[in-house]
Amino acid sequence: MKIWLNGGLHDLDSARVSVFDHGLTVGDGVFETVKAVAGRPFALTRHLDRLARSARGLGLPEPDLDEVRRACAAVLDANPMELGRMRVTYTGGLSPLGSDRGDQGPTLVVALGEAKRRPDSTAVITVPWTRNERGALTGLKTTSYAENVVALARATEQGATEALFPNTVGQLCEGTGSNVFVVLDGEIHTPPVSSGCLAGITRALAVEWTGARETDLPLDVLDRAEEVFLTSTLRDVQAVHRVDDRELPGAPGPVTAKAMRVFEERAADDLDP
Ligand code: PLP
Repeated sequence: MKIWLNGGLHDLDSARVSVFDHGLTVGDGVFETVKAVAGRPFALTRHLDRLARSARGLGLPEPDLDEVRRACAAVLDANPMELGRMRVTYTGGLSPLGSDRGDQGPTLVVALGEAKRRPDSTAVITVPWTRNERGALTGLKTTSYAENVVALARATEQGATEALFPNTVGQLCEGTGSNVFVVLDGEIHTPPVSSGCLAGITRALAVEWTGARETDLPLDVLDRAEEVFLTSTLRDVQAVHRVDDRELPGAPGPVTAKAMRVFEERAADDLDP
């Protein structure tokens, strides 16, 4: 496995980052997970735009997106695989403790692993914790993912693969690594970005391609929605067949099944050559 670290390709075993790296000491890094099909990244420009937006939000030095693009191409070339998940991580570099070590520049890592095709449907839980729709980090894709780790562990304990958060005013927000959609009276709705959710790239494409509406939704919409589905880079559009104790038999229902089909067809056009 070859990974990109700060200007060049390295063997995974020999790539080293300082123990004083900010991403490790205080967690102020940003990242993207990009799907790659037969070596072609999906929606890379959108991912790089969001990486830069997140970096700006954290006050990190502006990433050189041409370099990130070159790094992605080099890693994809060096590690051929049919379905990959490419992780781009960008941190502020050395913390003050490490400042006597010279290089203060940011750290850029691009790594690639095999991705698995997800089942058509999955189970989710809701959690009692909240997403903050007005926090300093709201909408940024930062490496500070510990809250998501805790929520996902609870989901796993309950036989689910995702945990859905309300925001601080009790509205449906998002999952630990996905956005959520519900079908009401045959229409597709998803929480707006003002709910505090990440502006998911799959979410944006699904809204564009299915005509889903962005609507403030109470958390208990999950008790009555006809269908529920998730979107994310690695799930694409994935139906939900159970929310907490509520079964949604027959998932994917007809509206979700159509969204899955539309997404699969349109997504093929969004692969970078
Ligand atoms: N929400 C959160 C918190 C995420 O971490 C992610 C992706 O990792 C998403 C939503 C989905 O975003 P995307 O479709 O860009 O993968």
